[in-house]
Amino acid sequence: MKVKKGDNILVTVGRDKGKSGKVMQVLPSDAAVIVEGINIKKKAVKASAKTPAGGIIEVTKSINTSNLAVVCPRCNKPARMGYAIIKGGKVRICKRCKEKI
Ligand SMILES: [Zn+2]
Repeated sequence: MKVKKGDNILVTVGRDKGKSGKVMQVLPSDAAVIVEGINIKKKAVKASAKTPAGGIIEVTKSINTSNLAVVCPRCNKPARMGYAIIKGGKVRICKRCKEKI
């Protein structure tokens, strides 16, 4: 998984194409992430103790990591991600500007 929690991403495929947001949660087993404001689905819920009125709530669904690109904080563009070994540790870098992400 190249995507980490807190990354800024750009959606490159699908209904939310062109939108960007911050990764809230990573789901490694699904190769998916949950991104603030992306892939919001409306869901009808019955009245319950938690939602006394019932009705329609908005749920943020996960999005597959193949449908998005991590935005490089330095060049502010979707980054081609690479890895570099710095001080013995593996770090992610933007291949365009070589900035550590
Ligand atoms: Zn960059």
